[in-house]
Amino acid sequence: MSKLSGACLCGSVRYEISGDVQSFFHCHCSRCRKATGTGHASNVILKPDSAAFTQGESLISSYPVPGAKRFRTVFCSNCGSPLPRIAPDLSIAVVPAGTLDDASDLQVTDRIFWGSRSAWSCDSGSLPAWDEYPVR
Ligand SMILES: [Zn+2]
Repeated sequence: MSKLSGACLCGSVRYEISGDVQSFFHCHCSRCRKATGTGHASNVILKPDSAAFTQGESLISSYPVPGAKRFRTVFCSNCGSPLPRIAPDLSIAVVPAGTLDDASDLQVTDRIFWGSRSAWSCDSGSLPAWDEYPVR
């Protein structure tokens, strides 16, 4: 993948990603639904060194969900827009796809936590849908 740029809604925080996309999930879990207010989060998964903030880092806030081992939201404290979570301790960067400026070349790979979806969620179409994480 060539370098892609992204930003929050107000444009104060900017970032870039590069390198190989490991996965691109629509995640239907209850935490992603709460965090996004929608039927699923759409997240590009990369290695942590494939994502970097380039502007506005002082505005980045995060919220660790009580009781969650890994789940944490990252967002702009000015506009509330979700932002990438770059977590070297978990060997992962989770990039909210909707915050990319142009991701038209990226293809969603899977739907995950399909078993947790809301009744009104969109249907799976041709994508593989997993009850939790993909098993390959
Ligand atoms: Zn913002």
